[in-house]
Amino acid sequence: MSNESDFAHARRVLPGGVSSPVRAFRSVGGTPRMLRSARGAYVTDADGVERVDLVASWGPALLGHAHPEVVAAVQEAAARGLSFGAPTVAEAELADAVIARVPFVEKLRLVSTGTEATMTAVRLARGVTGRPLVIKMAGCYHGHLDALLAQAGSGVANQALPGSAGVTEATAAETIVVPYDDVAAVAAAFDAHPGRVAAVIVEAAPANMGVVEPAPGYNAALRRLCSQHGALLVLDEVLTGFRVSGAGWWGLEGRREGWEPDLVTFGKVIGGGMPVAAVGGRASVMDHLAPLGPVYQAGTLSGNPVAVAAGLATLRLADAAVYAHVDRVSRVVSDAVSAALDAEGVAHSVQRAGSLFSVAFGSWGPSADGSRADASGASAFAADASVADASVAGASGTGAHRPDVPAGPRNYAQVQAQEAWRFPPFFHAMLDAGVALPPSVFEAWFLTAAHDEEAVGRILEALPAAARAAAA
Ligand code: PLP
Repeated sequence: MSNESDFAHARRVLPGGVSSPVRAFRSVGGTPRMLRSARGAYVTDADGVERVDLVASWGPALLGHAHPEVVAAVQEAAARGLSFGAPTVAEAELADAVIARVPFVEKLRLVSTGTEATMTAVRLARGVTGRPLVIKMAGCYHGHLDALLAQAGSGVANQALPGSAGVTEATAAETIVVPYDDVAAVAAAFDAHPGRVAAVIVEAAPANMGVVEPAPGYNAALRRLCSQHGALLVLDEVLTGFRVSGAGWWGLEGRREGWEPDLVTFGKVIGGGMPVAAVGGRASVMDHLAPLGPVYQAGTLSGNPVAVAAGLATLRLADAAVYAHVDRVSRVVSDAVSAALDAEGVAHSVQRAGSLFSVAFGSWGPSADGSRADASGASAFAADASVADASVAGASGTGAHRPDVPAGPRNYAQVQAQEAWRFPPFFHAMLDAGVALPPSVFEAWFLTAAHDEEAVGRILEALPAAARAAAA
């Protein structure tokens, strides 16, 4: 039993040795650490090495790994039966818990993965509107459904794939991809396909091309365009839902600004580490789903009682103190990352959206002395600035033109132009020092309620050497 021998075994029988591509370390190199167990803020690998974990199962572990009350809820549910294939009251209770937190949701359909949630949302939008096309933003990842893989972030980004083999041209032709952060491009797509767009789908706050905080008014502008053109707005909160606040990104922005999507998708935290995801919205939209309506959707394990128990326990425990803690430790860690990179003269942007953050390497916009510090970042910046000049004023273009928008890359092209090669040495220095980061520069870092002073201290201690490695 060791990382090397276990991974060699896995590679013989699983494509790439993994069940999901980003786990294979392809964008950072080296051998993935085969995990044996996880508790609180820590994971332990096959060599018995314990590390502070900033992957958090790619988001679900908001409370930390194996929270005792969540594990107890799972054990109790499992003892009553693993799966019934019949309705349970716990499913309705989970829907109640979501509706209490996200009041524009009147009804919820439970599924098992975020991919199923967005797939169902797209089918529902097409069924409700009778229209074929979907608009998505380059760099936003909505799972691995054919319709939404084009220019997706996450694993598609770190494999440098434009999309995926196996997606037919006919399917791809029904998806219109526009740059993120460019309202004019969305308006133009609507104008080019009058009466044919069923939905705009967007990550509530993108976190799969690294984190890109939505510009003030961007999501609201998408809402307006959808209403104007009779399309549905699908807000993908699979990653942000119940993570950045009790009501997700919408709770930080939409509630304050007074807009609501037509459909919202959840995953990750809603299952607390077990396979639960959901699509929700107004009853008048949701009731188009079978058995009430003509839009078919089903699942043998949907609403699985053991998984639902984990989700219910997680949402019950995710109180204001949890969110305040995660906000605080995220700020402490992201500030420390920035300070460590500054100390080594590594140009970067810490990209934040609520408690989510990632690091982009390079320079965007003028540096303190007015010069452009980095060629690749500067050229990406310049190229996009001209696009911005040609587009409408308001919520589009680059942050450099809008003082209210954070500096740093604002769309997929800018994100991809960064000095991504600085990340692998940074990542491995952290790993060697006992801190497991997400193994790709395009992924968000996840803090949890279990990241206490000791765990955060270990991260901070590891940073100077990692910053030196990134500078080399
Ligand atoms: N939507 C977003 C915003 C995501 O981040 C993800 C996964 O990372 C998905 C959808 C797909 O979820 P899943 O991996 O559970 O299928």
